[in-house]
Amino acid sequence: MNRITKLFGIEKPIIQAGMIWCSPWQLAAAVSNNGGLGVIGAGSMYPETLEEHVDKCLKATSKPFAVNLPLLYPDIEKHIETVIKYKVPIVITSAGNPKVWTPKLKASGIKVVHVVSSAKFALKSEAAGVDAIVAEGFEAGGHNGREETTTLALIQDVVDNVNVPVIAAGGIATGKAMLAVMSLGADAVQIGSRFVASEESSAHENFKKVVVESGEGQTSLTLKEITPVRLIKNNFYNQVQHAYQNDASVEDLKYLLGRGRAKKGMFEGDLMEGELEIGQVATYIKNIKPAAEIMEEILGEFHTSRRQLSSTIYDF
Ligand code: NDP
Repeated sequence: MNRITKLFGIEKPIIQAGMIWCSPWQLAAAVSNNGGLGVIGAGSMYPETLEEHVDKCLKATSKPFAVNLPLLYPDIEKHIETVIKYKVPIVITSAGNPKVWTPKLKASGIKVVHVVSSAKFALKSEAAGVDAIVAEGFEAGGHNGREETTTLALIQDVVDNVNVPVIAAGGIATGKAMLAVMSLGADAVQIGSRFVASEESSAHENFKKVVVESGEGQTSLTLKEITPVRLIKNNFYNQVQHAYQNDASVEDLKYLLGRGRAKKGMFEGDLMEGELEIGQVATYIKNIKPAAEIMEEILGEFHTSRRQLSSTIYDF
């Protein structure tokens, strides 16, 4: 047991990321039923959709699970009401100021975790009263920090600066990577991309296939002028690059992005025109599996690597 497993009441320090369009109740329940913390991604759900997913998740697992709430969500008050009404045990907030909702959620008995991409925001989150922090590095898929701080550089800095438990994210899809970030002082890992290519994820089959087939260097962090996002370099990405070459203004970029690009790509499977948000680790993902097998594989590799490492330690 460590600080995170104790805080959440889970067995394994693996948190599944609450990714928009990819994290339904089926995935959250599967991860929680296998000892991790499953997370419903509320950012792409209308209020009634989130209620349905929370209700179904409560019926599918007796274990703790969480909801990810991007604080910029247009109807955030309604999502807050839902998590309180259904007594969701843990809420992971992102993309916004943790000072605004943390007190209300905590007063309702909910544990609150906030996602940050710098030590500065980790300190602000701690001051806002969060129970733990997800520190997410540059390698991560989807929305990401502007500073491009890699997970290797970020985790140590955050761990050295805050007292609350730290969950490492960005670039973690294997047991070896899990061991690496825990060596840096993280208490747990948050894994997104690997679970996109799970059987329970609601990502479109076309998107899952692209993730499995994509190789080194095929993602990029772009659109920093709006909200930085790491995605696969498809036709839409090429249009963005073309716009940059023509000195596009922020307004031009917003117009090009339009509305619902993420849904089009990840949920509807439009590989040309949609946004396909995935992390650099897509290069390691070679198959689509049930979430239970993914967890077993990561934990198995974690323990094997840990043993191998201790048998190859040298005296310097
Ligand atoms: P867009 O503005 O391009 O589109 C909104 C999408 O969210 C639509 O596909 C819509 O579904 C869906 N949606 C769900 N609930 C609502 C609601 N109450 N009002 C309006 N739309 C809703 O946003 P993105 O696709 O870029 O982002 C989707 C969500 O992801 C955001 O609402 C936010 O919660 C989260 N997010 C976005 C970030 C960003 O910078 N884009 C950063 C971090 C999180 P439909 O097509 O069925 O109407």
